[in-house]
Amino acid sequence: MDCSIKQKIDPQYFEALKKTLKNISEVKKGKRCEKGFHLEMPSLVGIKLTNRCNLRCKHCYEWSELGYCQFMDEIKQNEELDIQVLRKVLAETSDIKSGLYLWGGEPLCYSKFDELADLISGENRICAICTNALLIENNLNSLIKIGKNLELVIAMEGFKEDNDKIRGNGVFNKICAAIDLLLKKRAEKEFLGKITIHTVINHTNYNRLFEYAQYVQSLSVDSLILCFPWYISDESSELMEKYINTRFLWLPELSKAENRSWDSFKYGLPEEYGTTIRSELKRIDNYNWKFNIRYFPKIKEDEIYPFLSGKNIYLQNRTSCNSISMRADIMPDASISVCKHFKEFNIGNLKEKSLKEIWNSEAFNKARCIIDEQLMPICAQCNNLYLHGET
Ligand code: SF4
Repeated sequence: MDCSIKQKIDPQYFEALKKTLKNISEVKKGKRCEKGFHLEMPSLVGIKLTNRCNLRCKHCYEWSELGYCQFMDEIKQNEELDIQVLRKVLAETSDIKSGLYLWGGEPLCYSKFDELADLISGENRICAICTNALLIENNLNSLIKIGKNLELVIAMEGFKEDNDKIRGNGVFNKICAAIDLLLKKRAEKEFLGKITIHTVINHTNYNRLFEYAQYVQSLSVDSLILCFPWYISDESSELMEKYINTRFLWLPELSKAENRSWDSFKYGLPEEYGTTIRSELKRIDNYNWKFNIRYFPKIKEDEIYPFLSGKNIYLQNRTSCNSISMRADIMPDASISVCKHFKEFNIGNLKEKSLKEIWNSEAFNKARCIIDEQLMPICAQCNNLYLHGET
């Protein structure tokens, strides 16, 4: 399934893609000669600005009833990244212009967002912000400042009733108002960024994805991402526990953690929905779109069932994660996690060391070597495995 390749590729997106492919190729070559090989500095930095969020979406692995933020104390729940740490990371990566992926919680809840926008405006780096759109109007001037390198990835879960069942009553109208405002500002040549709609394939929208994609196209946004839910089965969670106990107990946070963040990835769809999803995506593939549609992860038709099962089945014979050699992920407490979504893989703190020191540390390399030798059970569901991984 691949509808995106038929469409016109935006020059900026093409440049970013070229850079990513070059980095992947360097990592692949390097890994052939050296265990745990990584780029000198991360080409992409994921920054979780805050744990705070102004919504409580039903499928969220952070703030739904089972979400891992529910098990944090109040201080942690409200924690946000020290702006001085951000300054330091931006300074350390300014020569290679590492891309930024800003998320949260809700990143626009970050109290220093305007200062952050000042720091990155005029810098030639790609910056994606994953947002629920509710605070776009309040932060409009800051978003405008970031300029043409910005991609705003706005979460929307389907048509009004579908979206609001998951995100809350009245949220759909607020998202549409925010998109209208951005488009108006873009027409006035003030807002120069790209607008992407991010939609999780869910229990309310799975049977009208084609119709929904047509609706999103009519909004005049730049692209749509249809994302399969990242469901981690109990079976996979158990295997993960064994994996940690045999390989990762040397990492302090993993040895002492009472709640595992991956136990919060429990939103999934019954496998029998796979047939309907497959026919909806086929319709999408066969249509001539005027905007970009991407699937996350980009799996094949016959891989939908195994993916939905949440079991540790590595599709497309993926055996190795390149993300850990290219991407650093910073948490609100300034710790760096080896792996994008799992904060327990805390490998060092930017309040004590530089990004370069942590990125090239013995501990980070040890973690890379372990994961290179054997992927974690939960990697099977990870978008990064299919985006950057190899066979
Ligand atoms: S493939 Fe595995 S190690 Fe790599 S980013 Fe995903 S979950 Fe983390």
